[in-house]
Amino acid sequence: MNNDTGSCEDMLLMIPGPTNIPESVRLAMAAQCIYHRGSEFAALLDDCIRGLQQVIGTARPVAILTASGTGGVEAAVANLLQPGDRLLALNTGKFGKRIGDIATLYGAEVTWWDCPPGGAASPALLKRVLAQGYFTAVSFVYNETSTGVMHDIAGLGRIAHDAGALSIVDAVSVMGAAPIDMDANGLDAVIGGSQKALMLPPGLSFVALSEAALEKACRTNRASYYFDLPRALAAIEKGQTPYTPAVTLMSGLREALRMILEEGLDAVFSRHAALARACRSALDAMGLPLLPTDRARCSVTVTAAHAPEGMDSKELVTRVRDDSHILISGGQDELKGKVFRIGHMGDCGIAQLARTISAVGAALGQLGVAVDAAAAAAVARDEYTRHQENPDA
Ligand code: PLP
Repeated sequence: MNNDTGSCEDMLLMIPGPTNIPESVRLAMAAQCIYHRGSEFAALLDDCIRGLQQVIGTARPVAILTASGTGGVEAAVANLLQPGDRLLALNTGKFGKRIGDIATLYGAEVTWWDCPPGGAASPALLKRVLAQGYFTAVSFVYNETSTGVMHDIAGLGRIAHDAGALSIVDAVSVMGAAPIDMDANGLDAVIGGSQKALMLPPGLSFVALSEAALEKACRTNRASYYFDLPRALAAIEKGQTPYTPAVTLMSGLREALRMILEEGLDAVFSRHAALARACRSALDAMGLPLLPTDRARCSVTVTAAHAPEGMDSKELVTRVRDDSHILISGGQDELKGKVFRIGHMGDCGIAQLARTISAVGAALGQLGVAVDAAAAAAVARDEYTRHQENPDA
């Protein structure tokens, strides 16, 4: 075990990725590697794409890229935007900003729309902004991991679509945990990553493009050789990827998708919603205010809360790690030291969450803030059960 990096076989990962990997997924990845130009690989690719299509809610093919989530985001940008194109980038936090930064690098003319930390982007406001001028595309993050806010994917997507702008949607930290309904919501580029709710190690990203987006990609002077999405999508027709893929990770992906679909998408989404609600209630019980300002827009995969007045959230994170072998996260960028974040996605249930709440409560006590950790963990369990029995309440 290495306490500095948090690498430890028995370390429970309650961070917003990477997440805990189920044993059957690990075993699937331990099998002999197969040849990526053969029929066995074509079947594997087909299984993975079919599973992803269900998770994303699309009939469109999905490119599977050997890259972390950022690679998928960069691929979408590189294929949809070129110098002269205009992007409205919703700066919702670290990851919303990243999309705009990448677009700037590719020469797009980026207009920023800043959201206050913890606030949710309003579709009505987006409508007003888009009415003021033409944008080639609008980018936003469905689940802004840095703030724990889940933005209104349906509302924002629909408004962008109606304004004739392509939507570029980073769904990296929520794909497999909440509905995306890409086709129904008229979304144009949806990006996912492997190491979050899809219960895999890092290394794969997924990009689905609408027909309009693919058409734009074909017209774009694509400034990336490796991340050429028309090429990747054309290769799928032959049961292949353009370059050597991460076959081992894809074997794990097939198993992870099998598990998700066996549990049932609705059941998986409900479990995540219940865990999030349980986490929020437990933090309420400990008197820790949430970062998101609108509870209705709290993330189902990561809960962000303020550390007690005068406490550096890093101290709390370190104490939970060292005393309980549980990793939670601190804040990012300007939220560093101020907030902490608990990830509850993928292979995660109420037992792990309740353990985490107990650990946070105990750590607060060690740091001089007395809370009733056992009572907070009981609140989490009760709330989880209540939600699972009556999700609409
Ligand atoms: N987008 C979001 C919303 C994320 O949460 C992350 C990672 O945490 C990324 C993008 C970047 O993914 P990666 O670190 O896999 O490149």
